[in-house]
Amino acid sequence: MARYIFITGGVVSSLGKGLASAALGALLQARGYTVRLRKLDPYLNVDPGTMSPFEHGEVFVTDDGAETDLDLGHYERFTGVAARKTDSVSSGRIYSNVLEKERRGDYLGKTIQVIPHVTNEIKDFLAIGDTEVDFMLCEIGGTVGDIEGLPFFEAIRQFSHDKPRGQCIFMHLTLLPYLAASGELKTKPTQHSVKELQSIGIAPDILVCRSEHPIPEKEREKIALFCNVRKEHVVAAYDLKSIYEAPLAYHREGLDQAVLDAFSISPAPRPDLTVWEDVVDRITNVDGEVNIAIVGKYVQLEDAYKSIKEALTHGGMANRVKVNVQWVDAEIFDTEDPAPYLEGFHAILVPGGFGERGTEGKIRAAEFARTRKIPYLGICLGMQMAVIEAARNLAGVSTAGSEEFDHEAGKKRFEPVVYHLKEWVQGNYTVKRSTGDDKGGTMRLGAYDAVLKTGSRAAEAYGTTAIEERHRHRYEVDIKYRDALEGKGLIFSGMSPDGRLPEIVEIADHPWYIGVQFHPELKSKPFAPHPLFRDFVRAAKDNSRLV
Ligand code: GLN
Repeated sequence: MARYIFITGGVVSSLGKGLASAALGALLQARGYTVRLRKLDPYLNVDPGTMSPFEHGEVFVTDDGAETDLDLGHYERFTGVAARKTDSVSSGRIYSNVLEKERRGDYLGKTIQVIPHVTNEIKDFLAIGDTEVDFMLCEIGGTVGDIEGLPFFEAIRQFSHDKPRGQCIFMHLTLLPYLAASGELKTKPTQHSVKELQSIGIAPDILVCRSEHPIPEKEREKIALFCNVRKEHVVAAYDLKSIYEAPLAYHREGLDQAVLDAFSISPAPRPDLTVWEDVVDRITNVDGEVNIAIVGKYVQLEDAYKSIKEALTHGGMANRVKVNVQWVDAEIFDTEDPAPYLEGFHAILVPGGFGERGTEGKIRAAEFARTRKIPYLGICLGMQMAVIEAARNLAGVSTAGSEEFDHEAGKKRFEPVVYHLKEWVQGNYTVKRSTGDDKGGTMRLGAYDAVLKTGSRAAEAYGTTAIEERHRHRYEVDIKYRDALEGKGLIFSGMSPDGRLPEIVEIADHPWYIGVQFHPELKSKPFAPHPLFRDFVRAAKDNSRLV
């Protein structure tokens, strides 16, 4: 039976609960334990799949096809444990399950209430897979006191009460603001936030306090006294240069020791932190810098491309270079020449996206990279744009475009080089879709196999011809155009096993030009950089040495 660690936050949002949870997971692994991390989000969307990236940042996709919160990306990057559908839940999903059961008559005519029906549904979710790992880390989104978070807090209180003593602990993240005028760290907001937790029956075992300044012993004692936690369990979280320093930083501050103490695990197994020491060494000791442009639509919110940014950092670590990312709004190139904006970058990346806005600009960015021989990585929509560019400018299909942008009935503007896929094979099943389907959860989602062409650049990067990568898209490149495009040098180097769906395209006569229909960024880790990001950054590094 797993031990449970519940992670909550107070005072303000964005304190880095996800990062603290992920780093703690990594530290427990370093001591030889198995872990799984979970996120419970209080919002009413059933999942973040239909939310705009401006609202909630990137949608992280799991192997089993769930569209989840981006914190699951942190969890995977720090622990290497592949997240599952059952590691992410929202109030919307919980209520939807409860209402479905009510309609089916499962509650035998009872009055349906938040307690016990909603809280039971949450507790059932928490218990999934509880015999599989040593520690289950469950993060509650939002801050204590939020109205919509209450059922989750009540559920974790009940859950810990139902379990034998010592099976569950509570870790609470807060902020210690610094008043420059008096030169003091203030503990009152932390005290209030802990009171709020206590008022709903939860007594935190560990407090993680974010602070921009060192926490003096005196303040630590005060927090311990007023918040009813041990002094050694008041753990400082200081700002870091890189998130990948978090495991070592939390270890130095005693977080993992505090957690093991709170569970009365003694003696604590010794940690082996060599992986994280190597990771930090690779960020700190670099040999040069590369400048990479990400030409996208959601450039105002960096979290919209969180995993891509991280995967590029990992690629930099593999090559011992610092990767400077600059976000460039694709819409600029709808009307303007990309050259003055993109000249000087060592590589160009066009990420995934939805809708027509900015796509002509992305096509021009792909053309610029192809003709100027600048390393290019196109991801999902970025691959589709590269194919459309090649179809228009190399294969003579002047009106090439995607069906995604032709929504007005009877007004066909584009030759559909990229079309809406209505039927495909997933394992032993055939999945069917139609144009009028719901938007939520109806894309080609999750892990699919691909077969790579022997001798291709893709196969060389992966070191194999059989791969599995995560997908999240509705549209596909039409193989009808394959011969025409290959004749002009755009090689289809990765295909679905049945040969119907192009997965990777590349140009052989180019320093490095690859488009992928899937999302390689979702599987990259600091300690295991994704091969495509590793080689893309290497190509950028080679290019930087030329200019
Ligand atoms: N909009 C495109 C599609 O649905 C690309 C999606 C993506 O980039 N994730 O196929």
